[in-house]
Amino acid sequence: MIIYNTLTRRKEQFTPMEPGVVRMFVCGPTVYDLSHIGHAKTYTQFDLVARYLRARGYRVTYAQNLTDIDDRIIRRAAELGIPPQQLAKENEQAYLEDMAALHNTSVDVHERALDHIDDIVVQVQALIDRGHAYQLDDGWYFDLTTFPRYGKLSGRTETRPEDALSRVDENEQKRNPGDFALWKARKPGEPYWDTPLGPGRPGWHIEDTAITEALFGPQYDLHGGAVDLIFPHHEAEIAQMESASGREPLVRYWMHTGFLRVGGDKMSKSTGNFTTIRDALAETDYRTLRHVFLSQHYRSSMELDENTPEQARGARRRVENFWRLINAGHDDRATRELTERARDKFYERMDDDFDTPGSLVALFDYIREHNRSGQQPGRGASEFLNEVNALFDTFDFAADQAGSEDAAIEELLNERRRLRGEKKFAEADSIRNELRARGITIEDTAAGTCWWLGN
Ligand SMILES: [Zn+2]
Repeated sequence: MIIYNTLTRRKEQFTPMEPGVVRMFVCGPTVYDLSHIGHAKTYTQFDLVARYLRARGYRVTYAQNLTDIDDRIIRRAAELGIPPQQLAKENEQAYLEDMAALHNTSVDVHERALDHIDDIVVQVQALIDRGHAYQLDDGWYFDLTTFPRYGKLSGRTETRPEDALSRVDENEQKRNPGDFALWKARKPGEPYWDTPLGPGRPGWHIEDTAITEALFGPQYDLHGGAVDLIFPHHEAEIAQMESASGREPLVRYWMHTGFLRVGGDKMSKSTGNFTTIRDALAETDYRTLRHVFLSQHYRSSMELDENTPEQARGARRRVENFWRLINAGHDDRATRELTERARDKFYERMDDDFDTPGSLVALFDYIREHNRSGQQPGRGASEFLNEVNALFDTFDFAADQAGSEDAAIEELLNERRRLRGEKKFAEADSIRNELRARGITIEDTAAGTCWWLGN
């Protein structure tokens, strides 16, 4: 398997630290509000990554943090007149419900920042002891001049407009403009924790490395997140953990997902340009949403428009209609070679940096070729499609087969009509072949298309 590593800016052979074992961490949400579908894209794409690693035989531990203390939580809770912890709890619950609704099931542990205060204090203390941190009136800061490797992930040390920068730690006394807060001293009216660092609360970046050190130790295999977290958040994680432990690298493979764009703009809370996951799920079923996210490469930025869900539904229907042709009791020896070739191609694409669009092309080519063969798909086809769906979870194979025969045929005919309307005649013809393979003849008449069983 190869993975594109943001750290080295190239594709690399994937070799975990311990053979057969993968320790994987993805930045979770700050639970101050409902999550939007930009988050859904990232988490669905990493859900596939974890599922695929497991399918390839790795023993994966997939951890995610939940930021349950933060400036924005405190601010929003004050606006709503409720305690910050209550706001965090409610939104944590909503987030977990959203992920379950999207079938993002592969996370093993969700770790709250507030459950790791002790680990955070220990790590900040280690940074103080090693001369990487200094104290100002409003807390402890990381001194960037003590970490010359700062910028190695992003290739820069200055912020840019596209960075997730909701939390800039400003204090005029800072030694360097980029120095970030490790521990924020108590402020009136804000929650605080009494610790050896003084009363206060954790900075943003420190929770991730405190959590991953507690779970995985100072080094692990794979860290994921959206591309806007590279700087300064992930850069800060590297500075903290590598300084505290004296070991590098913190993470072997850094993976970043591209933005979700709507109307040309990045979807984000701060600009108000967003759709919550629950609103999206009220309109579009989870399988179609997953298909939208997985039909493009995780590193690409994705443009959503009103046609996107319909296109995804169309793609799903092609696969589901093929599934309905399968008789799993049938030995499809005649097409076994076709199936094996498609299967190899599918995994070859997935092995190349989780190329989901490439692997779907392999699947659609397979369906087209199989339809053309005129042979009925059987056991082999059923196994292959089930393997695909265990990863993608985008196709509805459970839909009633017996009794829905006529409806399935009508649906195929509708699909064919749509394709012909779009002048996709080759694909439309492959539906005709699909039906012929089931012994169904169709005829286009002035009044529409009619069909019957037999020749
Ligand atoms: Zn994070």
